[in-house]
Amino acid sequence: MSIRSIKSLTNLKNKRVLVRVDFNVPIKKGKVRDEARLAASLPTINYLRKQKAKVILVTHVGRPEGKRVAALSVKPIAKHLSVLLNCQIAILPKWSGMAVYKTVENMPPGGVVMLENIRFSPEEEKNTRKLAVELAGLADLFVLDGFAVAHRAAASVAGVAEFLPSYAGLLIEQEINGLEQVTKRPSHPFVMVIGGAKMETKVSVIKNLLPRADHILVGGGIVNTYLKARGYGVGDSLVDDRFKKEVLGYGKEGKIVWPVDVVVGSATGKRARVVALARRPQRLCASGEAIYDIGPRSIQLFATYIKHAHTLVWNGAMGRFEQKPYDVGTLAIARLIAARSRGKSFGVIGGGETLQAMAMTGMGEYVDLISTGGGAMLEFLAGKKLPGIEAIKSHAG
Ligand code: ADP
Ligand code: MG
Repeated sequence: MSIRSIKSLTNLKNKRVLVRVDFNVPIKKGKVRDEARLAASLPTINYLRKQKAKVILVTHVGRPEGKRVAALSVKPIAKHLSVLLNCQIAILPKWSGMAVYKTVENMPPGGVVMLENIRFSPEEEKNTRKLAVELAGLADLFVLDGFAVAHRAAASVAGVAEFLPSYAGLLIEQEINGLEQVTKRPSHPFVMVIGGAKMETKVSVIKNLLPRADHILVGGGIVNTYLKARGYGVGDSLVDDRFKKEVLGYGKEGKIVWPVDVVVGSATGKRARVVALARRPQRLCASGEAIYDIGPRSIQLFATYIKHAHTLVWNGAMGRFEQKPYDVGTLAIARLIAARSRGKSFGVIGGGETLQAMAMTGMGEYVDLISTGGGAMLEFLAGKKLPGIEAIKSHAG
C-alpha cells in the first residue's frame, strides 16, 4: 500500500487535524535560530487552514527525557510560527483533560494551536498506548508531516496512527516521492556520494545501494577505516574498527570509487599537505596528525563520475570541513552536485552537516530534493522500514 496524501481529502471544514511536525529547531535566548524546519511544514499547515480545518500541531524539542524542562518549551517556536502564518497560536500545556478538549472545540475553522513539547511526557518515546489514545482523542484525523522523525516509533509519530484515519503531509509526500524515485526507479548512471563520521549509519546504506547504484564515491571516516584495514599508518584519523572487514570487502567491488589522494595534517589545520595513496601501505600521518580531507586528484576523479550522473545522492562530508583548509573537498563536491542537479540529474542530499556544507556554497536551490531527515533518509536508503511511514500506510482513512 502506498501513502495517502492530505490532497486526497475533501471537506476538511471544522475537522480537527492533529499534525505531527518536526519543529526541533535550535533555540537560543528564547529565539528560534533556524526556521528551516518551520518553513518546510508551512505548505501542509497552509493547505489545512485553507480547507478550514482546525490544526493541532505536535512536535518534540530536544531531549527533556520525560520531564518538563522550561528551556525546551515550544513557546519560542509558537511565537515564531505565528509570525510566519500571521495568526495567533495558543499553546496547550497538556494533551488530555476537559480544558484541552474545550480549547480545541472552540477553535475557529482555519485556527492553529500547538501542544507543549511532547517529549515532556515519558510516554512519547516509549510509545505507550495510553498517550497514543489521548492524542487521538483530540482529533478526527492524523497527519504526519515531520520526515525527520518518521524513523522514530514514538506515540505522536506512529502510535497515534492506529487510532485515527492517517495521512501524509505535503512534506512527507515530497520526500518519500523523491527517495522512492532514487531507490526504485533511478535514471542511470546512479552515483552515490557518501562520507561523514557516523559509520554504522553509512555502511548499511552502501550495502543496500550497491546493487542499485552504478558508482559509490566514498570520503570521510569510511576511507580512513579502509586505509587502516589495508595497513596504512593513519595516525589519529577518525576510524571505526568495527567495519574494517566490511570495508575491505568493498575493495573487491568495482562500483566503489576510493580517493586516490588525501589531505593530512594537524587538527587545527597546521602542516596540511596532500599525500598520494601509493599501492604499497605507507605511513600517511606523523603522530598527532590525521587524514582530514580528500585530495585534489580525488576531487577531479569524483567529478568525472558526478558530471555524467543522471541520479545523484549525497550524504556525509568528505572531510573535516568545519576546519580550514579541510573544507576544500566537501565544498567542491557540494558545488559539483548542485551544478549537475536540476534537469541534468535528479539530485538528492541529506544529513545535518551535509546541508550545512551545501549552505556554505549558497547553491542549495539547485538541488532537487534537500531532505529534512538525516537519520530518516539514511534509514530509508538503507532499505529499512520507517515506523511513522508504515503506520500511516496501514491506517489510511
Ligand atoms: P551528516 O550529518 O551529514 O550525515 P555525519 O554526521 O556522518 O554527516 O558526519 C559529518 C561530520 O563528519 C562532519 O562534521 C565532518 O567534520 C566529519 N568528518 C568527515 N570526514 C572526516 C575526517 N576525515 N576526519 C574527521 N572528521 C570528519
Ligand atoms: Mg551528522
